[in-house]
Amino acid sequence: MPNSPRAAPPPATPPSTPNRPYRGRFAPSPSGPLHLGSLIAAVASYLDARSNRGIWLVRMDDLDPPREVPGAAHSILDSLSQHGLHWDEDVLWQSQRGEAYQRALQQLQAQTFNCDCSRKALAATGVCQRDCRSRQGEVTTPAAIRMTVPRDGVIGFDDTLQGSQHIALGQTSADFLIHRKDGLYAYQLAVVVDDAHQGITHIVRGSDLLDTTARQIFLQQALDYPTPIYSHVPVITNSAGQKFSKQHHATALADRDAVPNLRSALKFLCQPRPPAQLASPAELLQFAVQNWAPRAIPSAMAIVAGRDST
Ligand SMILES: [Zn+2]
Repeated sequence: MPNSPRAAPPPATPPSTPNRPYRGRFAPSPSGPLHLGSLIAAVASYLDARSNRGIWLVRMDDLDPPREVPGAAHSILDSLSQHGLHWDEDVLWQSQRGEAYQRALQQLQAQTFNCDCSRKALAATGVCQRDCRSRQGEVTTPAAIRMTVPRDGVIGFDDTLQGSQHIALGQTSADFLIHRKDGLYAYQLAVVVDDAHQGITHIVRGSDLLDTTARQIFLQQALDYPTPIYSHVPVITNSAGQKFSKQHHATALADRDAVPNLRSALKFLCQPRPPAQLASPAELLQFAVQNWAPRAIPSAMAIVAGRDST
């Protein structure tokens, strides 16, 4: 069948990328200022890149204008700088990448379909409720567009911190959305297109994004992109188990407290404690790069704030 979906590969470790120079990235969404949870993810990806003599990039995931807080993007960039987390190359803004996402949609056409299920029909499960899939390959916009996922599709990958992962994608993310009816591209598609565009080899990020990885690998395979190496660090939660996030009103970091903020992030990541006399972000980060110990990071998915991790 000319338009049949590619059979899902058996669980396997994605190919490593030994021949590509290390390129990592931190990709915040501008829905609020930098908080401790996002600083931890930024520090982990920065230290991993720098200790591997790699390039470290910042990308602004400003794909969803209604969720943006005015001024947040520049506030985040300013805070990163104040914390000594200086990036290489220009910041990539997802809001300016529409043409690239459109090209990827066209490339995926044979494996996608328009879904015109009503919001009401989708409300219960989010899964396509009609026979929209029978129109695979006949994609038009504007419309909600879904990726055809074989029902028995399984994605496997080795996370350097969370271990071997096997996700029954056909069950957990059946025919997931890659383009919304309102014209916005789905996060999964944008991330995959941009990671490939930027030649990202290593993705170090919070474990709250672990469950998006299978969809992203599925798209990488469909688009013939290489799969990066993934490391998902634990996320910090409050005592109720809620992730520190803008949605839960996590406190913005004070840039004047950059040194204690960095010390807190390093402590959370169970890294060697920098000597007390190191008094600037640059000195702290230099020490942390030289002593980076990814194996010391707990393999837990979440850690409650305030728990003594040393
Ligand atoms: Zn549908």
